[in-house]
Amino acid sequence: TVVTRFAPSPTGFLHIGGARTALFNWLYAKAMGGKMLLRIEDTDRARSTQEAIDAIIDGLTWLELDWEGEPVSQSARAERHVEVAEKLLAEGKAYRCYASAEELAEMREKARAEGRAPRYDGRWRDRDPSEAPEGVPPVIRFKAPQEGETIIQDRVQGEVRWSNKELDDLVLLRADRSPTYMLSVVVDDYDMGITHVIRGDDHLTNAARQTQIFRALGWEPPVYAHVPLIHGPDGAKLSKRHGALGVEAYRAMGYLPAALRNYLVRLGWAHGDQEIFSTQELIELFDLDAIGRSPARFDFTKLESVNAHYIRQTPDDELVRRIRETLPELDGVSDLAGKIDADGWDRLKQAMPGLKPRAKTLVELMDTARYLFAERPLEMDAKAEKQLTPEARQHLAALKERFAAVEDWSAELLEETVRTYAEEADVKLGKIAQPMRAALTGRTVSPGIFEVLEVLGRDESVARLADQAA
Ligand code: GLU
Repeated sequence: TVVTRFAPSPTGFLHIGGARTALFNWLYAKAMGGKMLLRIEDTDRARSTQEAIDAIIDGLTWLELDWEGEPVSQSARAERHVEVAEKLLAEGKAYRCYASAEELAEMREKARAEGRAPRYDGRWRDRDPSEAPEGVPPVIRFKAPQEGETIIQDRVQGEVRWSNKELDDLVLLRADRSPTYMLSVVVDDYDMGITHVIRGDDHLTNAARQTQIFRALGWEPPVYAHVPLIHGPDGAKLSKRHGALGVEAYRAMGYLPAALRNYLVRLGWAHGDQEIFSTQELIELFDLDAIGRSPARFDFTKLESVNAHYIRQTPDDELVRRIRETLPELDGVSDLAGKIDADGWDRLKQAMPGLKPRAKTLVELMDTARYLFAERPLEMDAKAEKQLTPEARQHLAALKERFAAVEDWSAELLEETVRTYAEEADVKLGKIAQPMRAALTGRTVSPGIFEVLEVLGRDESVARLADQAA
């Protein structure tokens, strides 16, 4: 069965590219009836933090991307990595190298002067160990093949070949006996039974090196799928301004996890020109072969429109539940957290039909919903204030009387009441609706005014109108 893994290095938040990698691994595992494992690649002890591990787990959980079993900590497996390096050494497939820092610097210098990539020249590869300098702890290097080619059949990139001359003898164990990334990944992928490695194409050359190590150990390498990185809308490397943020930033901007997943899957993967997919559909349709070879471009406008779609189709009570959960983190509306009581949440749910069609994000939705929770007398914004002319205030005074008397507090009846009044007073409906909107919401843009009245209820509506009436 298929076993994939998401293997982040916990040196920062779960960024959007990592989230997409996790999603592809998750989807492929689900699509194939297999499983995804999580491995925390924390071998760089200086740069790895518990905070970053928590952020990654939190981000995956929010995105509803689950993995099987406990997360595997790579650093906890160091002994096993050392054991495998020793095995390669014992079999003559690795060797001790005593080259000093100065010698290595010289090699790099020489490569630079000759305009080629730096490369260890193999000076200890065939040297007699009796020549080892006294008291110098060696590194252990892999004896990479020097002739021929290393070839991988990548599920995204197709066949990729490297001349073995270009790949030098990389370090497996450092002088302090700590294993390198290249060794750890191979041993872990093997021990964890990983069948498919899906990751960013910045790891493509690593796949060649890892394949060589797999072969030297007599192990079958996994299937590789190297996905082009996400670029900015201008085609350049993704910058912060253009979306290179942690997933918690997307949560704070008011995106729904399902919408972000749907958007991310389309960054690189396609099924005709279909844009919206249910998770079930994705699991049925997702395949590595349909991942494109050119980098996808991140586009906030597109993400917003996908999110707007998800907001519209999410049931009202689920949306309210999600907002309750994330409100303290939502950018620009978090001041509302703690100010909404049980009645307030009910009102929010009631108001959803008017709020949902207008919101691209939960932030926009809650900003539009502010009128529901505003304290009397309402603060008017400048445009709302302008609507409240002396004449308009007189209309409000008349209307509040009529509202106090309507029998049934429903949008239909309220609309009828206002229309009748407008006809009798011989004014256009707009002349009345805008001042009403100002008085009821403090703004000049809001959901339909009759819905607003209905949701606020009679007492609150009449009181707000009275506050602004002449
Ligand atoms: N830890 C690596 C990274 O975060 C990924 C390694 C891999 O997927 O093989 O870039």
